[in-house]
Amino acid sequence: MILHLNNNISLKTAIDISENIEGKLIFNDLNKIIITSSKVKKVSNEIKKYVSDEFILDSDIQLSSRNYIKETRKVKINNIEIGGDTRNTLMITGPCSIESRNQIKECAQLLKEIGLTTLRAGCFKPRTSPYSFQGLGLEGLKMLSDIRDEFGFNIISEVKDASHVHDVIKYTDIIQIGAKAMYDHGILRETGQQEKPVLLKRGFGSNLQEFVQAAEFILSEGNPNVILCERGIRTFETKTRFTLDLCGVSYLKEYTNLPIILDTSHAMGYSYGVPDLTRACVAMGIDGLLIESHPNPQEAKSDASQQLDFKEFKEMYESLLPICEAVNRKII
Ligand code: PEP
Ligand code: MN
Repeated sequence: MILHLNNNISLKTAIDISENIEGKLIFNDLNKIIITSSKVKKVSNEIKKYVSDEFILDSDIQLSSRNYIKETRKVKINNIEIGGDTRNTLMITGPCSIESRNQIKECAQLLKEIGLTTLRAGCFKPRTSPYSFQGLGLEGLKMLSDIRDEFGFNIISEVKDASHVHDVIKYTDIIQIGAKAMYDHGILRETGQQEKPVLLKRGFGSNLQEFVQAAEFILSEGNPNVILCERGIRTFETKTRFTLDLCGVSYLKEYTNLPIILDTSHAMGYSYGVPDLTRACVAMGIDGLLIESHPNPQEAKSDASQQLDFKEFKEMYESLLPICEAVNRKII
């Protein structure tokens, strides 16, 4: 249950009410909102006196539900916006990992040439093996920050555990929570206490309810700027790296109010399939894409098989434009 409290009540009263009904209080200058478990379906008449609006939800998909907010939330990333009434599809690209100043500069040139705004590169990599490249860490974040100063891009990079969450928050414009970190409550809480947009990736073994409830942890800490990212789930199929759950994307579009970004690179795992898959995603009408690109994919230190080289990326990008037009979307 979500309760909007009357504007004029004091914070102390709001806290008392929240404790009384074992709810979670979110407050800012404009609003005081209490969220309880969805098992709670009504409150006492005494408490009702303080309530201006109530929403009874049938599961713990609450703040992210369209039954609470009908429109897709608008998320502002500095000078750009997605969701709301924007019809924007944000193209996020860059290498899986930042590897050197030269490499990231080449990637930045690609974005500049095309006119894109959002550069992504991982610094803290959640690798499957402890013996493979783990990322440049803080040094990588600082290089990304220099690129932001030079080119004016928005930067997105991932956080894989709580040890560096503050560094990622400090140096990025969108905080990415990786698939393996989707259940890390330390990260969810910490990023929930920021205002910066958070891109939450779906764990590859998580169902949609679990995925959206992870987003609820961030929202219920007070950060309204959450973006969902479908990046493929594990199925019995082994010919592709994961299986992109487009049925799930339809579900998320129908039932949640959060913008949705699709990552075809990690889903497919092989560059040959990424352009086709991306065209299919754009045709669904989505809020953004996350595509890995690299100046020389064969030499990449992580996810070499799935990254597009610049020629492949540009060709794919061109092919998306008429599809975007057909679904009344604009790539930004
Ligand atoms: C990545 O984005 O490079 C990555 C590791 O993705 P995921 O968390 O989806 O596996
Ligand atoms: Mn990757």
